[in-house]
Amino acid sequence: MSATTFRFDNTYARDLQGFYAPWKPASVPSPSLLFFNRELALELGLDPEVLGGPEGAAIFAGNQVPEGAEPLAQAYAGHQFGAFSPQLGDGRALLLGEVIDRLGHRRDIVLKGSGRTPFSRGGDGKAAIGPMLREVLIGEAMHALGIPTTRALAVAGTGEPVYRQQLLPGAVLTRVAASHLRVGTFEFFSARRETQRVRQLADYAIARHDPDLADTTDRYLALLRRVAQRQAALIAGWMNVGFIHGVMNTDNVTISGETIDYGPCAFMESYNPDAVFSSIDHGGRYAYSNQPLIARWSLARLAETLLPLIAGEEGGDAVSKAVGQATELIDAFPGWYAAALLKGQREKLGLQGGEGGDDELDRALAADWLTLLHEHGVDFTLGWRRLADAADGNEMPLRSLFPQPQAPDAWLARWRSRSESEGGRAPEWSERAERMRRVNPAVIPRNHRVEEALSAASEQEDLAPFRRLLTALRRPYDETPDQAEYTEPAGAEVTACYRTF
Ligand code: AMP
Ligand code: MG
Ligand code: MG
Repeated sequence: MSATTFRFDNTYARDLQGFYAPWKPASVPSPSLLFFNRELALELGLDPEVLGGPEGAAIFAGNQVPEGAEPLAQAYAGHQFGAFSPQLGDGRALLLGEVIDRLGHRRDIVLKGSGRTPFSRGGDGKAAIGPMLREVLIGEAMHALGIPTTRALAVAGTGEPVYRQQLLPGAVLTRVAASHLRVGTFEFFSARRETQRVRQLADYAIARHDPDLADTTDRYLALLRRVAQRQAALIAGWMNVGFIHGVMNTDNVTISGETIDYGPCAFMESYNPDAVFSSIDHGGRYAYSNQPLIARWSLARLAETLLPLIAGEEGGDAVSKAVGQATELIDAFPGWYAAALLKGQREKLGLQGGEGGDDELDRALAADWLTLLHEHGVDFTLGWRRLADAADGNEMPLRSLFPQPQAPDAWLARWRSRSESEGGRAPEWSERAERMRRVNPAVIPRNHRVEEALSAASEQEDLAPFRRLLTALRRPYDETPDQAEYTEPAGAEVTACYRTF
């Protein structure tokens, strides 16, 4: 038994009593390690030899609580599809503790699927192997795409079936996050009018994510600004890879700005701003193009929880002043988002931007490109990737994505002249193409490939397709021949009826 697998330093348990219930993971009959993230373990300063073996299986299945862990279920509330639930909380997850990674960053280690907790309500506290491996695939893909995300350290099989309309093999995911603070964590005590508690949480969040704000006078307003700016960058990142989260409830919106909770998410195939895949999102509330609007809506919910702190003790005028300041900030969000989106789009278009770059011109160029993809039902990912090839002078692959090969002519002419207008700063076309290939992925988690990998694992205990897909997703910008099978879309018929759960 090694005592040094994790060196925990548990600030959440220490500083936020009352925000959680201490709890223990359930024991499972037969732990086995299905996935272990060696690279992430090293980043966390953990010993991959120990954790990649039987002791790791016991820890990651919940059978052995590692030394120094103080497992707890976090309390939080949340707006789900717009309706407020005053008590959600970790119904099937436990924070084991925090470690400091190699770069000095504090990271949460959480088990998901580790049994019932005081917050389980009607749920069984368990997880099936498919959705947990899905979290691995999408999280690792997002990480490789440079999008802030929680990541999977391990998935352990439990040897215990879980019932989800049918019996499925059970599993426990170990998730790593900058923190698990959510908008919903603030809503929990705010809804109970416990302002001291909200202040305690806000101070904790500042110490953890924005320590430079700790001694500033307007720190709660500044915290809100930081969270909003991180979310603006995050959502722009999603939009620029065609990612649809699927369940942007406020309990799934982080303070850290990391993507969390890969449930009914999906990547878009042919470009369609109305795309929605989640089986439970009947109204399309969380459709692709709604994501920035919903982020802003969620930030307004966060702002409401912070109002008493922003106003301070004075009351009266201070409250209306705080409302004014918070409103101004929430109103600034669309501008921050638009700037982050344009920055990403410029890179994808191979443009430099910055001084001398005309924002409105480039915004229109990107918007018209997307309209073109939409009108002709072109695959979002391949459209961008083949544009990089067109920069290299190889236009045929791009043209062949359109029903009529000359469809993109007018737009391509505009793009070329805009690119050349960069004058002295304009790079060679081949260099531009190379740069474009480093931001426009060839490989994303194609829905049909994800499903295929998950059903092989779940139905045949065959993890080979999962492992192959994961390897491909970890190098999204490489289009070597071995990657080719992962670049192809499923096609319109398959995508039209694709649903996530
Ligand atoms: P989500 O929509 O995945 O963010 O989860 C919403 C809430 O449902 C959270 O409080 C979860 O902890 C809880 N939950 C989801 N699945 C289960 C389960 N199988 N057992 C208990 N609670 C669950
Ligand atoms: Mg959640
Ligand atoms: Mg979930």
